[in-house]
Amino acid sequence: DLLVVGSANADLVVAVERRPGAGETVLGSDLALHPGGKGANQAVAAARLGARTALLARVGDDAHGRLLLDSQRAAGVDTSGVLVGGAPTGVALITVDPSGDNSIVVSPGANGRLTPDDIRAASALITASRVVSTQLEIPLETVEELVRGLRPGTRFVLNPSPPQELPAAVLAVCDPLIVNEHEARVVLGADAGTTPEEWAGALLALGPRSVVVTLGDEGALVADASGTARVPAVKVTAVDTTGAGDSFTAALAWRLGAGGSLTASAAYAARVGAVAVTRQGAQASFPTAEEVAAV
Ligand code: ADP
Repeated sequence: DLLVVGSANADLVVAVERRPGAGETVLGSDLALHPGGKGANQAVAAARLGARTALLARVGDDAHGRLLLDSQRAAGVDTSGVLVGGAPTGVALITVDPSGDNSIVVSPGANGRLTPDDIRAASALITASRVVSTQLEIPLETVEELVRGLRPGTRFVLNPSPPQELPAAVLAVCDPLIVNEHEARVVLGADAGTTPEEWAGALLALGPRSVVVTLGDEGALVADASGTARVPAVKVTAVDTTGAGDSFTAALAWRLGAGGSLTASAAYAARVGAVAVTRQGAQASFPTAEEVAAV
């Protein structure tokens, strides 16, 4: 029912006292290796909630690729659309300092080789899906081909991350376009105001059918032709916000596909995001539907 098209990365995380300068070496903690990437995270988040979910992505023919396939399968994701080979699996090299600040180098690897041809070859999977959700950790021309191949009845959800200005043909099919504050500013380009309401209005003017602005511990804002509404955050004690946006987007896409309104689906997604921030990690923090019902 839900198809996530996007990235799969191995996250290699080392804690450091301080980051090395040019030419310097510092020693860090033991390596932690986690499955990640926005596409892989969204697919796992949706499947854990109980959504029938498939992933269309590309990984390398290597140990990181097998780690990613294993984590997808363990969550119940249909991996028949995951292509293998062409380049090493995407990797995020992450250092975390004692204040919790991250420095990240991403090697897109196989994510950069998910091509428009791969999209055309997966047309059966795409047309069989009620909702298609994607992000921008794969080539923009691949996203453009995905948009061209959508059936009229298929709902398309885009989180433009990492953000860039978007072609009109992509914007026109987003329902919704989901952005945090930083992504809103980059997609809008020129100065578009200071309040989430102003961003949402300016984003809607770019052509998407609907817009969701996520606001961290302040919840979210939804906007479409019928108006704008605030979705309050669920009050929790956050320990790690990694993956909050991915779990929010996955939950929203799933509930929309099940026929939920934009506001009701975003309220559910806010509960999912709230649970995710109470736990360490990205995929490890994603809740089941039972756990969401308990908050
Ligand atoms: P991103 O990770 O993409 O920057 P946000 O931080 O806005 O996205 O988080 C996505 C959603 O997760 C928010 O809209 C909110 O509903 C929920 N969320 C995030 N942080 C918190 C928090 N500290 N408390 C409660 N809910 C949160």
